Order: sequence, then C-alpha cells, then structure tokens
Amino acid sequence: MQITEKQLSLVNERLKAIISSDNYFGRMYRELGITEIKTVEDFKKLPFVDKAELRNAYPLGIQAVPDEDIVRIHSSSGTTGKPVIIPYTAKDVDDWATMFARCYETAGIGKSDRIQITPGYGLWTAGIGFQAGCEKLGAMAIPMGPGNTEKQLQMMQDLKSTVICATSSYALLLAEEINKRGLKKDICLKKGVIGSERWSDKKREYISNELGIELYDIYGLTEIYGPGIGINCDKQTGMHYWDDYIYIEIIDPQTGKNVEDGEEGEIVITTLVKEGAPLLRFRTHDLSRIIPGACPCGRCYPRLDVIKGRSDDMFKVHGVNMFPSQVEELLGTVDGVSSEYKIDIAHDEEKNRDIILITVEAEGRVNFDKTAEIIKTIFKTKIGVTPKVVVVPVGTLPRSEKKTKRVFDHRDD
Ligand code: ZN
Repeated sequence: MQITEKQLSLVNERLKAIISSDNYFGRMYRELGITEIKTVEDFKKLPFVDKAELRNAYPLGIQAVPDEDIVRIHSSSGTTGKPVIIPYTAKDVDDWATMFARCYETAGIGKSDRIQITPGYGLWTAGIGFQAGCEKLGAMAIPMGPGNTEKQLQMMQDLKSTVICATSSYALLLAEEINKRGLKKDICLKKGVIGSERWSDKKREYISNELGIELYDIYGLTEIYGPGIGINCDKQTGMHYWDDYIYIEIIDPQTGKNVEDGEEGEIVITTLVKEGAPLLRFRTHDLSRIIPGACPCGRCYPRLDVIKGRSDDMFKVHGVNMFPSQVEELLGTVDGVSSEYKIDIAHDEEKNRDIILITVEAEGRVNFDKTAEIIKTIFKTKIGVTPKVVVVPVGTLPRSEKKTKRVFDHRDD
C-alpha cells in the first residue's frame, strides 16, 4: 500500500517532533543525518525500528514530549530481558479510545450492547483498551478482567452480556464450560471480539457454534497504542485498519524489502499522530498480507489478512523451517482432533538429531493409535518431518487466559 501525501506529511511532523525531543530515536536520526521526509524515497530510507531498541531505551528513553504531557504508561510483557515502557499523552489515550470505538462499530456493536471484558487490566494494554473504547462508544462495560470462570458465567447470565471480549484460548474455555453446563439457552451473547492471534478455523467454528455468536478479530500491539488499530467487518474478508492513525507496510522479513500488496510478509507500522512515543517503521514480527481491492462492505479503510504467525515463532527441525500455524493447519485436517496441541523439540545426543514431539487432543470417538499414525504420515508427506505423536483426550492440555505458548524448544536447555 503506497504511502499517501497526507500520510507523508504526518510522518514528517512526527520525525521532526522526535528529533527535537532528542529522545533515543531523535539522537539516532540525527546521527544518521535524517532531518525530514518529503518523498516516498525519503521515507524508505528510514531505518526499521525493532523491539530490541525499545528495550535499550528502557525505561522512558522513547518519550518524545515533556513529562507534564504524559498521563499514563503501558508496558509490554518481557518474556526475555527488560520490558518495554510506552508513555501516552492525553491525546494518545483519546485517539486509542476513538480507534477502539470504531472497531466496535465496525463489528456492528452499539450503545445498547453490554460488553463483558475478560482481558487483563494493568500494565498490559488489553483490558483498559477494551474498556475505554466501550465507554467512548457509549455501551455498557462489564470490566471482569481474566479468570474466575464461575463469576464470568454468572455475570454473563445475570447482566445479559451481548458481547464477550477475550483471547481465543479463554473464549474456548468459556465455550466448553457453557457447553458442559448446558447454559447455552441462558446466555444472550451475540458477538465475540477476540484478540488477534493465529487461531485455527476449527477453534473458531467451535466457539462460534457453541456460543452461537459471530466472531471478530481485533488487532493491535502495546508498542502501537494496544489492541484496537484494526478489526474485521461482518463481511469477514480481513481486518480493516485505521490508516488515518497508522501506516502499514509489508516487508520480506529476511531482506527488509517491501512486498507487493497481496503478498505475505512482516507487518511494519508507522504511527502518524502519536505524541508520547511515536514510532516510525516499527517491525512487529507479525506475519500477514494486505488484501488488495475494496471490501464489499463499502468501507474505504484498507485491510490486513488474519495474522498467520510471528516471524520469530518460526522453528527449525532437521533443517526444515516450520510455523505453529502450519502445524495447526495440518492437524485441522485430521478427523476428531481438537484445536489444542503442544510441540516439544529436543536434541537426541546419541543419534545426534532433533526430536519433535506433538501432543494433540482428540475426541473419544476416534482411535488414538490410528490418529497418531495418520498425523505422522501427514507431516512426513507434507513437510518431510516425521514427529513423534501423543494423542490425549480433549481437555487434557492446559487452557490459558493469555495467548497460549505452544512450542517448547528444549534444545538449549
Ligand atoms: Zn469491510
């Protein structure tokens, strides 16, 4: 998607604000001799920004306005090393809520809806983003936060929640619980807004059918406001994103070169109006593509396809590159297999080779031994790797309220 003149001039304004703030990136641009952005070529000369640099700037090195203008910070979880702190001005907070309200509207959610919010509140951007967007929209927020399934189901029935906001893993857990307790007739849910992560069609179908709701994928990341920068409409043809607030380009993660619209690659985001911590050409490591053409819904906002995975989730076994999403797709073709799985990779010193173990859930009606054999054959023929496979009953693997970690690499242990 070519950057427009309007967007270019906004980037130029942000660049100048960053440089004059003399923050971490301001110093970087000055050292590189970058002073302004006038043309598309100027823009493409801007270096990419990676999460590692945000860590280097810990805690507040990327702040681009005086302290008195900052009203809040959020932090992205640091699974390795230091976390990243993102400062927000009052305008940033308001812009984010406006974008989030637009997400709800795009999903057909309005003032009379009752929105049950299960993502966590706190340093994380999730819960508070869902809440601010809901209030901006004028709907009723039910700020549950994560966990306590008993209470979630109680409130869902008593308050007649019409919308559930959750990760796909927690939505699955709630759907299973509602199914188990035969509560479907007692709930009023119509729609689910699900934090975008790669999830299988099977899981989507199960949640949608069990709860009898339409599902919407909401996109976002803490470094760029938080969730709420894009969502799919009821045509379900990809996620519209708000190109008046952000500019998105797709690059080849290996070469860093822009790819054509429609081609898959890594999402790179430039904030156009962010004040507290503007970021230019931030590498998200999320893999997707821009969907060319117009959406049948008539909205002019461009579209991203579902997130296919993360470029840093890729793992290598016997020299073969694999993504969790690929594993998920292959498992989805096997009869009776659920959407929950886990992958362990280890190195066998004796044979000097990598061992990949897939633990997968299957319904009781299928033969577990045969199912394991079928999975082995599919992996061997489709990607040339023969895993060890353990089939366990549905419900055995842990369900998580956050994004589920599926790949455990023990080779460095
Ligand atoms: Zn649309």
